[in-house]
Amino acid sequence: MNKQILLDNLRVIPDWPIKGVHFRDVTTMFKSPECIQELSNAMYDLYKDKGITKIVGIESRGFVLSSAAAYLLHAGIVLCRKPGKLPCETIQQSYAKEYGVDTIEIHKDAITPDDVVLLHDDLLATGGTMKAACDLVKKFHPKKIYCNFIIELQSEFPHARDIFDKDIEVTSLL
Ligand code: IMP
Repeated sequence: MNKQILLDNLRVIPDWPIKGVHFRDVTTMFKSPECIQELSNAMYDLYKDKGITKIVGIESRGFVLSSAAAYLLHAGIVLCRKPGKLPCETIQQSYAKEYGVDTIEIHKDAITPDDVVLLHDDLLATGGTMKAACDLVKKFHPKKIYCNFIIELQSEFPHARDIFDKDIEVTSLL
């Protein structure tokens, strides 16, 4: 993987959405055809032998590469969304955020116990969002769960991986 081209195309926005946060803006990578190819191929290389049957994209930046990787891995795509966006019956998971509680949901018929599931999001910070998504997917009792991120903020959140259950394999591309 050509990491340099990815880093060159990553935009960092200082003090957004609040002062003190340096927001990694992946939309500048998403608009580059070369970056989309690098990222999709990297995901394919990581998971081509894992028998992935469903990729769960976390709203909304997680949707982008989930589709590209699903095409390459010959997997289906499942949307993990904020409440009220999915039209049919859902299973939900709530989790604590810095200020208050958030909820995410997946269609009740989206995953079966035969599935091998890869969850994908753009960025791992505290891990709270992905941990909630993993707990939600566990309710469907799939055969195995993998987690992948484009970016992991290891120096800012060195213990983020510790919150995931030990049977869940976590990878990040950058
Ligand atoms: P966590 O739950 O603290 O790990 O935060 C990760 C979630 O917040 C993901 O869904 C990200 O999309 C979003 N997020 C937090 N910080 C950033 C950032 O700097 N760039 C892009 N997304 C971010």
